[in-house]
Amino acid sequence: MKVIVIGAIAGGSTVASQIRRAVPHSEIVLIGRDPEIGYGTCGMPYVIGGLIEDKKRLIGTTAEKFSESKNIKTLVRHEVFSINRKDKTVEVHNLDTHETFTESYDKLILSPGGYSRVPELNGIKNLPLFTLKSYADMEEIIEYIQKEKPKSCAVIGGGFIGVEFAENFIRLGLKTALIERNDRVMKVMDIEVTDILNQEMKDNGVELYFNDAIERIEGKTLMMKNGVNIDVDFIAASVGIIPDTKIATDAGLSIGSTKGIVVNKYMQTDDPDIYAIGDAAECTDWVTGKPKRVQLAWHAHRQAYIVACHLEGKPVALNGFLGSTITKLFSLTAAMTGHSAKSLDSEGIAYKTVQHKGRSNAGYYPDHGTIYLRVHYDSESRLILGAQAVGDKGVDKRIDVITTAIMGKMTVDDLSALELSYSPPYSSPKDPVNMLGYKAT
Ligand SMILES: Cc1cc2nc3c(=O)[nH]c(=O)nc-3n(C[C@H](O)[C@H](O)[C@H](O)COP(=O)(O)OP(=O)(O)OC[C@H]3O[C@@H](n4cnc5c(N)ncnc54)[C@H](O)[C@@H]3O)c2cc1C
Repeated sequence: MKVIVIGAIAGGSTVASQIRRAVPHSEIVLIGRDPEIGYGTCGMPYVIGGLIEDKKRLIGTTAEKFSESKNIKTLVRHEVFSINRKDKTVEVHNLDTHETFTESYDKLILSPGGYSRVPELNGIKNLPLFTLKSYADMEEIIEYIQKEKPKSCAVIGGGFIGVEFAENFIRLGLKTALIERNDRVMKVMDIEVTDILNQEMKDNGVELYFNDAIERIEGKTLMMKNGVNIDVDFIAASVGIIPDTKIATDAGLSIGSTKGIVVNKYMQTDDPDIYAIGDAAECTDWVTGKPKRVQLAWHAHRQAYIVACHLEGKPVALNGFLGSTITKLFSLTAAMTGHSAKSLDSEGIAYKTVQHKGRSNAGYYPDHGTIYLRVHYDSESRLILGAQAVGDKGVDKRIDVITTAIMGKMTVDDLSALELSYSPPYSSPKDPVNMLGYKAT
């Protein structure tokens, strides 16, 4: 069996490795546009901020080493520009030599990710505008900062990449304004949580411009819709990643309502010999079963495993995503899984909410923190539908425990009975997760 994988970063390099393990005698060709393969995209904001000093640490291996150690033909700086489903071939363009050639496949896997949406800004001429999706984008930002020594910047967009941008620019000593057209950062979370995050941003010196947008730019001055003027040396925008579905669309594969490539629970597109994974694939929501596209690394890795199992002949189904996610914001961590109050409202699902604010671990222990947890549960079945947490310690484990509870189809009341490990540095004899179960009415 000959397998071609398109895209060689998170989903692509992972699926190629997984297939080598699952189907040892297959011939695998991995094709990616970037010069690097499988680098740690998620670490890029921290390289920009200098927390990770050596950018090369994000790169696990080179194309040559990967190719040699895994027996996977790895073509970097190559782009697939069309798929011929009838002949089962792809057309490939070498971005350095400009040669084109044809490769045949038995199975084709698409992991093309997406590209950054670039905001249209009236009057932007001399002001540098950056986005962050690839290693090259990261290098461009670092080079600019090192060379031009800017003093100030504006971040457009208060999603998770936007807040990571802001934190890392503050770390570099830059005067940082964050512009968000909504009324808060991380709008996927409940307002009770984002109020805490907004305050954390302010306390750390980020100037927040909510319900606002740039009307026009004059020189280096941003003229805001709400009438304020902000002087900046550059702009970093994080206003969405658009799934890269062009070759899939051209090949006649179905694109769904989330603008992702439609797949079944084994990641097969409507052509059974073509699979799609990662940011560009449209999956389903764990709770509602409706189309959902999650642009996160765990999900790409899981989908890679599912494809490899299917090719091996030992299928494992993907039963929907909760969209579990976690972000560091200065001294705080914020995490969520499943549905927020807003998404439940828009789905018309009747739910109740239980919340708990308290210590992350024993108050008499020197290193104790605070944690705020919210859990939404079905009013009738009492099944947990979503959870959010923010705090300075232990947020990750609480959200992960609740994620496990959701996937184990536990009710909110079951949380009180969870036998969770305890000693003063880590928890209390009644863990905050237990408290949610005790408090739920
Ligand atoms: C700054 C940043 C921080 C992030 N932080 C986190 C985090 O903390 N946690 C988390 O879970 N997720 C995070 N993510 C998201 C995560 O990186 C993505 O979900 C993941 O990389 C998606 O994997 P993918 O394989 O779908 O796409 P990518 O990893 O984007 O890989 C797609 C590759 O395919 C190439 N390609 C596309 N079309 C073609 C073609 N026709 N021919 C050849 N090559 C092609 C692209 O150029 C690209 O190199 C972050 C993303 C960014 C940008």
